[in-house]
Amino acid sequence: MIEFINVEKIYPNNVKALQNINLKIEKGEFVAIIGLSGAGKSTLIRCINRMHDISSGKLIVDDIEVGSLRGNEIRKFRKRIGMIFQSYNLVTRTSVLKNVLVSLVPELPLWRKITGLFAKEHKIKALTALDQVGILDKAYVRVDQLSGGQQQRVALARTLAQNPDIILADEPIASLDPVTSKLVMDDFKKINQEMEISVIMNIHHVEIALEYAERIIGVREGQIVYDGKVEEVTQEVLDYIYNGNFEKVKESKEGRR
Ligand code: ADP
Repeated sequence: MIEFINVEKIYPNNVKALQNINLKIEKGEFVAIIGLSGAGKSTLIRCINRMHDISSGKLIVDDIEVGSLRGNEIRKFRKRIGMIFQSYNLVTRTSVLKNVLVSLVPELPLWRKITGLFAKEHKIKALTALDQVGILDKAYVRVDQLSGGQQQRVALARTLAQNPDIILADEPIASLDPVTSKLVMDDFKKINQEMEISVIMNIHHVEIALEYAERIIGVREGQIVYDGKVEEVTQEVLDYIYNGNFEKVKESKEGRR
């Protein structure tokens, strides 16, 4: 479980990116974080694996207080939390399989990485992960010969090979066309449902967030202004998250009573 308790994040330039964040995310949830650009979505996600340190409050992931981790502990902790970015972050001039393998065993001596001497068990793990996202046939293809959607799947396989409990995804489909976006989102959904991996995704395509996520968190000016089941997200809720029309939400709720 991920728990934010009164979390605040102030960047060194004094921008208060998050304030009063109180949030619990249970294992296996599929959560989409939506809101305007600059609202704090990415900061919220990046605090979870300590890419950013929080400024005050507490952040607890599976009974570990994230802020208390030091050196090696942070690296170990991050292995359990996959991170997917908009830009895939792959080594494009090498094969798909090697990309997955190198991140699976980063401690392997360089000469073994270059010569491709990976242990059989690691190869099996990497190939299984590629199969899980439907690109096993691309294992020996160079990454720069793949489409954007396929590259994002390689990034997903690379994360899966590490058996994560949580996958954080920061705008994973922002560079993809609508059709490919859905294929990649289908993979996230499959992974979430079949492997019970929590998915926490920052996404600006609202309609896709509503189609795939179970829970929507709306962030506005660094605060959570909506947190609820996807079925309960109305136009008024979206209007509030994006335009700050709080009165309208209140009125419509009162009108329904
Ligand atoms: P979103 O993901 O919703 O677009 P961000 O979390 O990226 O929002 O940004 C929230 C606020 O924090 C913005 O005002 C942004 O300019 C600021 N910000 C983000 N990253 C940094 C940083 N590394 N240093 C300083 N300010 C930052």
